Amino acid sequence: MRRSHLFQTAVFLFIITVFVTVCATPAVAQRTAYREITVTALADRELMENDAEGTEREIKDIIAFAADVFKQEFGVTLKLRAVKPWEFPYGKTKLDANDALADANVQARGNKDSDITLGFTKKKLMLEYKKLGGYAFMFGNAAVTHFDESIALHEIGHLFGAHHSQDPLSIMYEGYTDSENFDRTNKAVIQKTMEKKFSMPSAP
Ligand SMILES: [Zn+2]
Repeated sequence: MRRSHLFQTAVFLFIITVFVTVCATPAVAQRTAYREITVTALADRELMENDAEGTEREIKDIIAFAADVFKQEFGVTLKLRAVKPWEFPYGKTKLDANDALADANVQARGNKDSDITLGFTKKKLMLEYKKLGGYAFMFGNAAVTHFDESIALHEIGHLFGAHHSQDPLSIMYEGYTDSENFDRTNKAVIQKTMEKKFSMPSAP
C-alpha cells in the first residue's frame, strides 16, 4: 500500500516536472527572441507645416509595414514613439545624403527614448551625382528615407546589419524592389546580430 502510494507520488512529480519543462521552454525561447525597438521619425518641417496630420499618417503607415515584416520574420517589434519636425531639409530643394544622415545621427543622439531615428524626406537625396532613395549605415542609430514602404524597410534592414544583395527579389537589392522579403543570407545576419546595439557610425 505504502509502496504504491510512493510510486504514485513519483509518477505525479514526474508528470509535473515534464509539464513545467514543456511549458517553460517556449516562454524562455520567446523572451530571448523578442526585442522591442523604439523609433522616432523626423519629417521635413515644410511637410509638417503644410499637412501635419497627413504627413504623420503616411509615416505611421510606412512604419507599420516595416513593423509587420520585422515582427513576422524576426519577432522584433518596431514601435513608433513620435513624429517630430525635421529642420535639416527645410528650405532646401535637394539634400546631400551624407549631410542629411549626419544630421539624423545627431538628432538620434538627442532622442534618448528611441533606439533608432528615421529622417523622412520627399526631396532629392544625392550622393555626389547619384540619386538615392534612402541612406543608412550598418548598425547606425539613424537612416534617411523617402516616403516609400520598400525604401524604408530596406534602410531599416541596414540598421539591423543587412547588406546589399544581388537578388532582385530581396528587399536588400541595391536598386530597391517592392519585395517584403529579406534574402536568406541577410535573414541569417539579422538573426545573428539581433542583440547588437545601434550607435552613431564613424564610417560607412
Ligand atoms: Zn542600401
